[in-house]
Amino acid sequence: MPLALSPTTVPVVVDDAKCIADKGCTVCVDVCPLDVLRISDLTGKAYMKFDECWYCMPCETDCPTGAVTVNIPYLLR
Ligand code: SF4
Ligand code: SF4
Repeated sequence: MPLALSPTTVPVVVDDAKCIADKGCTVCVDVCPLDVLRISDLTGKAYMKFDECWYCMPCETDCPTGAVTVNIPYLLR
């Protein structure tokens, strides 16, 4: 699957200010069935590594701090 070029162009965006991955949270990475989310070594926050998404939503729903936003394409709504 294609590597995500920039975090702002992928469908799943993580608010670094809210993400507590640096405190040990890996919930979104763990629940994603496509395994496209990762914790960044640079920022210690979660991000979308691969630009691939089923829009199944558990990453957004299960994030304990509401840091994840899944932007569902208009055609899929
Ligand atoms: S579930 Fe939320 S707080 Fe936890 S790593 Fe993912 S984005 Fe960060
Ligand atoms: S919506 Fe589903 S496939 Fe997309 S990143 Fe979240 S858990 Fe993974």
